[in-house]
Amino acid sequence: MLLAVIVPTLVLAAGLCLMRRACHRQEHIACRGCGYDLTGSPDSARCPECGRELDEAAIEPAGEIAVTWWLFWTGFMLVLGAALVLVPLIVYWAFRVL
Ligand SMILES: [Zn+2]
Repeated sequence: MLLAVIVPTLVLAAGLCLMRRACHRQEHIACRGCGYDLTGSPDSARCPECGRELDEAAIEPAGEIAVTWWLFWTGFMLVLGAALVLVPLIVYWAFRVL
């Protein structure tokens, strides 16, 4: 009986971890002057777009959230499957105790 709770709980935790891992911040750097994305640009002293001199103050981190959808949906299906097992069990035990 305890296994009926432990296994879905582990599946739920694994699903939540997959969903969390599917969402990650992409690291980008951008020119503060014009917003040009400098990611992957060869190291240069000037912005290739506006010509602004690039130093620490002129470079802005411009990270955005990226989602790996297949990983997110795999995690979601695991969470959904675990919830379909756990919710009836919890409801059953709650009404059995009352
Ligand atoms: Zn620029």
